[in-house]
Amino acid sequence: MTRPTIIAGNWKLNPPRTQGEQLFQEVCAGASARGVSGTSEVRVVVCPPYPYLGLLEAQSEVAHRVVALGGQDLTVNDWGAFTGAVNGALLREFGALYVVVGHSERRQLFGETDASVGEKVAAALRAELTPILCVGETDAERDAGETFEVVARQLYAGLQPSRDVVVQGPLVIAYEPVWAIGTGRNATPEQAAEVHRFLRNRLAEFAGDNWSQKVPLLYGGSVKPENAAGLLKDPDIDGALIGGASLSAESFLGILDVALNN
Ligand code: PEP
Repeated sequence: MTRPTIIAGNWKLNPPRTQGEQLFQEVCAGASARGVSGTSEVRVVVCPPYPYLGLLEAQSEVAHRVVALGGQDLTVNDWGAFTGAVNGALLREFGALYVVVGHSERRQLFGETDASVGEKVAAALRAELTPILCVGETDAERDAGETFEVVARQLYAGLQPSRDVVVQGPLVIAYEPVWAIGTGRNATPEQAAEVHRFLRNRLAEFAGDNWSQKVPLLYGGSVKPENAAGLLKDPDIDGALIGGASLSAESFLGILDVALNN
């Protein structure tokens, strides 16, 4: 099996500059001391707010090879009169190798739809960024027994528009149950593993078993050092997308340690 474990931090709209620079330095130093690199079996990605990207890339060339940067969103537009938008080419120029697409906060707070998420995955691939496509059900959808239907719909909608390209390029999927994001209420390893296996099977249907085995499937939703071991020990959980706990170097590196010792 040829897929890396990925420990990815989503800083969301945090933190102020001084803290952010220090946090990144600490994460880079910690990851470097643990032998992490962009090609190691366990990889680290940090997705800060846009203004940080060029700054953090410029801060240390060495650090950049240890910790990859990612955007939190992108526009599908090329260049031009699109006030407020940032496209994949610009993300790439300022040091991003990854981009989160379809995070539930973008879907819920910024009107992102299944269709727009699919277009954004295609735009990310055009810019040679690795999309981290997020899927996940709400509390109400889980209670109604619709979890599998929802994540399958989001997965297909995210991949279908770039079908020919997505099966060639790099891709990461993050299963993030909405009810577990920022709530302190993580999915149990069994709940997460069940959905991960389902997603792996849908990927195999989409483009074959070989390809599906290469796609890292991350779990996201209140991951902390204390609950990471139970989640990461499942063979179908290939890492974590981490919000709150990525804002402290100690807890983020604590999760990295769990992944390294797995
Ligand atoms: C996220 O925002 O992707 C996330 C998983 O957040 P948290 O870890 O805070 O639940």
